[in-house]
Amino acid sequence: MKKTLVLAGGGHAHLSVLRALADQRSAARDVLLITPERHQNYSGMLPGWMAGHYAVSDCRIDLAPLVQAAGAQLLLDAVVGLDAARHCVVLNSGRQVHYDLLSLDVGSETNTSWLQVLGAKLLPIKPLDAFFTQWPRVVSAAKAKPGYRLVVVGGGAAGVEMVLAAQHAFANAGLVVQIDLVASEHGLLPGHASAVQARVLRLVQQAGVSLHRQRAVGTPDGVLLSDGRLLAADLVLAATGARAAVWLGLSKLRLSQDGYLLVDQQHRSVSHPNVFAAGDVCARADATLQRSGVHAVHAGPVLAHNLLATLNGGTLHSYAPKRRSLYLLACGPRYAVASWGRWSAEGQWVWRWKDWIDRRFISRFSARPESDAASLLERTP
Ligand SMILES: Cc1cc2nc3c(=O)[nH]c(=O)nc-3n(C[C@H](O)[C@H](O)[C@H](O)COP(=O)(O)OP(=O)(O)OC[C@H]3O[C@@H](n4cnc5c(N)ncnc54)[C@H](O)[C@@H]3O)c2cc1C
Repeated sequence: MKKTLVLAGGGHAHLSVLRALADQRSAARDVLLITPERHQNYSGMLPGWMAGHYAVSDCRIDLAPLVQAAGAQLLLDAVVGLDAARHCVVLNSGRQVHYDLLSLDVGSETNTSWLQVLGAKLLPIKPLDAFFTQWPRVVSAAKAKPGYRLVVVGGGAAGVEMVLAAQHAFANAGLVVQIDLVASEHGLLPGHASAVQARVLRLVQQAGVSLHRQRAVGTPDGVLLSDGRLLAADLVLAATGARAAVWLGLSKLRLSQDGYLLVDQQHRSVSHPNVFAAGDVCARADATLQRSGVHAVHAGPVLAHNLLATLNGGTLHSYAPKRRSLYLLACGPRYAVASWGRWSAEGQWVWRWKDWIDRRFISRFSARPESDAASLLERTP
């Protein structure tokens, strides 16, 4: 009997899965990719897009041709529920989809629980699709309002890249905008070497961004710092770290303490052998992995192999994360900082290196024209 493989989320790892399925097409299975948008936006290029170095089309991958080549079906919808006991996912449209084998690559959400009171003044970095729509509106609003004030919350890599990209975009548009960066008491780039932190601090200061190393809480008017000062804001951009999707909590799958799907070295659920996951959505039972695109990308081929091995019979492989990951941080203009363990560097050449890697990633998955696969799309009502 035909088996149904459901791929939930068009994330980095599933790009490799679609590629592998295309290489090993089989009539013995149905494959369904469920994801809200036809295009997968690439976070690595988002700061460069904000800063004006890329068009939207440079930073995204059209999933439809990959799905077509894989002999699969694309369902534009979002998973909002999962019952691992009944082997089914529930979609935003109300539809229920049965699976024999499920793979999750839905990423994570921005944790904004303590900023929600800001209402329309709050713009979380994720979901990226919404951010791509909203950011041009922020620039228009800043143009329309002299004295516009932006607060970026989050001192990690995403927060730093966003604040420097925003400053560059405003300066290019001839706007004078007050920009504050709230980085908590842990400061900039916790976990990176002190030389990297020093390089980025210098660039943040040169950009005229006011840095606050304090805890903060949202208010209807802006952000209240732990020393009692209010940073009034027209917009608060949140790059406040990841949190797991709430619906995982009701799935009956075993989760980590912080709510992520717990997987083994083969990226298989520790509680349900017909569920696999890669990327931000999962936590390894045996190791701590940063929530970064690097792991989502590198685990992809292993996930692909393991899904095919489960369907066809075969030995599963383990994903062995490298001890250190290379981070290339975009810093506003075409200038970037490299961070790899204790080693660091910066310059226009680092930007060109990052640009080459990012463009190569996009082109690897963008071999065919968009129009080819339009007929494959299915959007639930
Ligand atoms: C500004 C910024 C810059 C970054 N730069 C880097 C970098 O340079 N290097 C790096 O390693 N990491 C970087 N990261 C981190 C990186 O974005 C994430 O770790 C990475 O995207 C995780 O990949 P993923 O495949 O798990 O999920 P995603 O890339 O988030 O993909 C998830 C997919 O699932 C879909 N989806 C979401 N919810 C559902 C649902 N309920 N049902 C179905 N589909 C769903 C989404 O539409 C999307 O297609 C950056 C993050 C940000 C915010």
